[in-house]
Amino acid sequence: MTITRRNFLRRAAAGGTAAVAACATLAPAGAEARENLKVPDNAVGLLFDGTLCIGCKACMSACKEVNNLPLEDTIGEKLWDTPLELSGKTYNVIKVYQSGTMETKDKAENGFAHIKRSCLHCADPSCVSACPVSAMTKDKQTGIVGYDKDACIGCRYCVAACPFGVPQFQYDTPKPEIAKCQLCKHRMAEGKFAACAEVCPTGATLFGPYKALSAEIDRRRAMKPGELAEFPRRTPDSGDMHEKAAPQYVDYVYGQKDAGGTQVRYLSGVAFDRLALPMGLPERAFAADSETMQHTLYGGMILPVVALAGLVTAAWRGSKNHHDDDDFDMFDHPEGGHK
Ligand code: SF4
Ligand code: SF4
Ligand code: SF4
Repeated sequence: MTITRRNFLRRAAAGGTAAVAACATLAPAGAEARENLKVPDNAVGLLFDGTLCIGCKACMSACKEVNNLPLEDTIGEKLWDTPLELSGKTYNVIKVYQSGTMETKDKAENGFAHIKRSCLHCADPSCVSACPVSAMTKDKQTGIVGYDKDACIGCRYCVAACPFGVPQFQYDTPKPEIAKCQLCKHRMAEGKFAACAEVCPTGATLFGPYKALSAEIDRRRAMKPGELAEFPRRTPDSGDMHEKAAPQYVDYVYGQKDAGGTQVRYLSGVAFDRLALPMGLPERAFAADSETMQHTLYGGMILPVVALAGLVTAAWRGSKNHHDDDDFDMFDHPEGGHK
């Protein structure tokens, strides 16, 4: 494994965590563990249903357009936008799991499946907790995790702390920023919503209130596989429905509880351990653990940066079962992979 920026930070953090463990034994008694933060009552989010995605990538183009992001050429033709992963130029990418002959959609063996990668807008975000200058913030009403480029000092703690590998540092620009989806909050002032959901022709990406999306998730999971069913486009209440045979979903809603829960959630016909999302994350948010530790250490007058390092390491340990290095596209499954 090569030493990458994130690996360096992780290893540095591992040293910090050892210090945390040592210091915690000396910390004052009575420090109370804080609970996971909850999704706000008026939270908004996305539902990505991989069984509806046709891989057209209209959502990727729309995301670039509304966020003024440049094309990313990964095949040397300088004509097309061809990002393979999230990057400083790409907030949203559709990836393809593929196995064997790839004959059947949403089948793990000799099949293929789609997955969307973008910020999950965590209920209790590690990036917000790790940021020392509050450049990353969670809106109290909508729960959207936003980024303030003017407040950012470029420390990249958020990059290292995110258990989903989302925030990206713009290394190749003179004034680098952190790149990540902000759920198109800049469009909401104009009465618009997430561009990726607006353009999706099948409703695979759906935007709406968290509660309405929860009801839609429950409705879909109660469908009888194979029976004709209706699926809304854009938002759950758009009334613009299309019909299709109900799929066989795997019995897991990704983002419901992972790392404390997220406002972007996923349904899939293929087990999530085949897709580019880290599995095995704890239900307790890393931020809840690290801030409990941080408060304990403040009480003992020990440098808070040591606790910050603990958060990074906790996030890494939580996701290391899934991928051994920085990039999800380095993940190899014995019976399939994705690109
Ligand atoms: S626009 Fe919709 S169907 Fe097309 S790739 Fe994006 S999520 Fe899939
Ligand atoms: S997915 Fe990562 S960047 Fe997005 S809110 Fe969660 S911790 Fe922050
Ligand atoms: S919500 Fe907006 S910024 Fe986020 S992935 Fe969709 S189009 Fe891109």
